[in-house]
Amino acid sequence: MTRSIMRAADWALGPETGEGAPEAIFSAVCVSCGEASDASDNSRVPVEVWALKHTGRNPGHRQFKATAETFWRVTPAPGNPYREIDAQGAQAPA
Ligand SMILES: [Zn+2]
Repeated sequence: MTRSIMRAADWALGPETGEGAPEAIFSAVCVSCGEASDASDNSRVPVEVWALKHTGRNPGHRQFKATAETFWRVTPAPGNPYREIDAQGAQAPA
């Protein structure tokens, strides 16, 4: 996965990499009838197979709205006091 970091003030935005966080969740909805695939963590292949099978069962249904959800995390950039607080394992104030 390509990692890109955008920086605003003393905070940096990047992908969520915490334990259990998926890189992406893929899903699709048939535009003709609204039937939805199951969601798939990290792989679009099960959703693609679902779409192909859906069209196989319903030959007129050939358009899908595909969605890939990704997760972001904002972390303190160098110079931000929260960086040191986080490093000490303290809870950041809400
Ligand atoms: Zn359909």
